[in-house]
Amino acid sequence: MMDKLKLAVFELTDCGGCALNILFLYEKLFDLLEFYEITEFHMATSLSEGSHYDVALVTGTVSSQRDLALLKEARNHSDYLIALGTCATHGSVQASVEGSIREKLKRVYGDEGNPMRALDSKPVVEYVAVDFALPGCPYDKNEVYQVLIDIAKGIEPVKKDYPVCVECKLNEYECVLVKKGLPCLGPITYGGCNAACIRSGLGCIGCRGPLPGEVNPASEYEILKDLGYDDDYIIRKFKTFARWEP
Ligand code: SF4
Ligand code: SF4
Repeated sequence: MMDKLKLAVFELTDCGGCALNILFLYEKLFDLLEFYEITEFHMATSLSEGSHYDVALVTGTVSSQRDLALLKEARNHSDYLIALGTCATHGSVQASVEGSIREKLKRVYGDEGNPMRALDSKPVVEYVAVDFALPGCPYDKNEVYQVLIDIAKGIEPVKKDYPVCVECKLNEYECVLVKKGLPCLGPITYGGCNAACIRSGLGCIGCRGPLPGEVNPASEYEILKDLGYDDDYIIRKFKTFARWEP
C-alpha cells in the first residue's frame, strides 16, 4: 500500500468555520484518510522542527505578526499549499474594514497599544505564493474533498473561473435578480458553491469573492440602481466581499 500523504491544517485569524467545516465532511473524511494522514491541526502555534507536509490547508487572514510567522512556516514546510476559504483567498469581511488597525489601537491604548502585534487583515495570497485558492464563506466541503482527492491521485485540481450565474443555468434555477428583483451578486462572484443561496431563494452576497476578468461590476451596479436600491445599500453590498466601489 502506498504511503499516505501528510496533510496539515493551519488556522490564522478567522471565525473557525473553515477549519471546522473539514470535520463536517463526516464519512467522506474517512475516504480522505485512505490517502492522507492529518499530521497537524494548528491554531496559531509554531511548527515542530523538521516538519514537512505534502499538502497544507491554510484558513483565515493574516491579521497579526503571529499569523504571518505561521503562514511563512506553513509555506516553507509544505509542497502544495491551499488557501482555503474567502478569508484566505480574498480577505473576507475583516479585510473590508476601513482605516489602519495600528491607528485604531493607538487611539484606544496609546503608544504602547499593540499587544497582539496586529496587522491590517489581508488574505494569505497577498503574502505567499499558493498552489490553489479555494474561496467560500465557508467553502463548499465537497469541493475541498474533490481537490484533495485529485491531488492524492496526481491530478491537478480544476480551477473554477466562471460566475455563480453559470451554476444557476446548469441547475435551471429561476434568476432571483431578474424574476424577483433581489440584489444578487452572482454575475460578479466566483462560482463553485453550486448556487447554494439561489437554491434557497436568496440572492448571492458574493461570499466566494469577486471574479476577475470579463465580469462587469459597473453593469451590476446599474442593474441594482434600476431595481430601486439606493447607493448606500449597493456600496455596502459590494464592499463586504467584492471590494468594488462605483
Ligand atoms: S439568481 Fe443570481 S446568480 Fe443566479 S442567474 Fe440570477 S443573477 Fe445569476
Ligand atoms: S451563492 Fe453567493 S453568497 Fe451564496 S454561497 Fe454561493 S457565492 Fe456565497
